[in-house]
Amino acid sequence: MSKKKTYSVDTNLAGGLGWMDESFKGVIPGIYPSTTYERDADGSYPNGRVYTRDQNPNYDQPEQILAGLEKGDDAYLFASGMAAAISVFQALKPGDHIVAPKVMYWALRNWLLTLGADGGLETSFVENGDLDALEKAVIPGKTKMLWMETPANPTWVVDDIQAWSVVAEKSGALLAVDNTVATPILTRPIEHGADLVMHSATKYLNGHSDVLAGALVTKSKDDFWERIGRVRNAGGAVLGPFEAWLLMRGMRTLSLRVARASTSAMAVAKALENHPNIEAVLYPGLASHPDFEITSRQMSGGFGGMLSIRVKGGEQEAMDVAARLVLFKRATSLGGVESLVEHRASIEGPDTPCPVDLLRLSVGIEDAIDLIDDLKAALEG
Ligand SMILES: *Cc1c(COP(=O)(O)O)cnc(C)c1O
Repeated sequence: MSKKKTYSVDTNLAGGLGWMDESFKGVIPGIYPSTTYERDADGSYPNGRVYTRDQNPNYDQPEQILAGLEKGDDAYLFASGMAAAISVFQALKPGDHIVAPKVMYWALRNWLLTLGADGGLETSFVENGDLDALEKAVIPGKTKMLWMETPANPTWVVDDIQAWSVVAEKSGALLAVDNTVATPILTRPIEHGADLVMHSATKYLNGHSDVLAGALVTKSKDDFWERIGRVRNAGGAVLGPFEAWLLMRGMRTLSLRVARASTSAMAVAKALENHPNIEAVLYPGLASHPDFEITSRQMSGGFGGMLSIRVKGGEQEAMDVAARLVLFKRATSLGGVESLVEHRASIEGPDTPCPVDLLRLSVGIEDAIDLIDDLKAALEG
């Protein structure tokens, strides 16, 4: 009697679920660039594949692994994180109401306020961490989606997925979580009551700053998931086969990279916490973080590679510190093997909720001591 063995997350990631190139017995599956597939003489499609806008063979492995990592039923890859998120909103109907937090990924908030609103979607933004405000913002019968992001860009406030899921369930709305920053290595929102999980796979999942990609994972293959599938297929915001293949290559080392970045980010946060030129270090792993209690319930195995520092002296001082950094490159994005720094307020524009003295750090997998030395040298001029 053979029983199929289930393996750990690390084993599934590293081995890519054991998938191989079956034609040549290569240990890595190949890239399938074909856009179209031949029918049998009777008109049927022998592998069920028709056209690459529906589904490319290079999606199967990363989608199956992602669904497994997030403890969901199914996953879809998209051409970007924004394409993934917007597909969720496009699957709603004009007049539907969304509740989202004030601190969230800037470009998505902006989309909800502009193009989303033009398309008939109404969004209320609530203060992160304010559950009363969340409950009050819900309009019975009209609110169809609660959207959250945790830890949230760029202040790393942590919202309670479990508590949001209770509100979602009571009001008949779906709960979607942008899990880009925590990754399924540290937080699995579906285990805390979420219905949908979104990723900018451009960040940690790929991990090498060389692929733009997005993903959604669903708790169950329900009618709404089927509708999202139709949005992807009709809109064609799909990933190219080469990018899907590169994403899979990056994902094989996900747990190693996330563990290393988390350890180093914690070391950086602790080294800077009491630095005389620092106003505050914002990192969910510090016991001084206001949401530390939620974080400890919701994240395990580390607190991620993202933190922000507020530099004493204000905006110009913060810009000067960024200018003096050598190892941290001044660039947007996050989750790569190389460390990055960004002055978020200047990229987000005048109505940003982001403080002007804030520098966002994406801690890579370099030596933590080198990174700390780089930061200290920049802070001390
Ligand atoms: C980058 C990012 C996005 C957008 O993803 P793209 O792949 O750039 O389209 C959404 N949410 C978060 C938290 C991000 O960091």
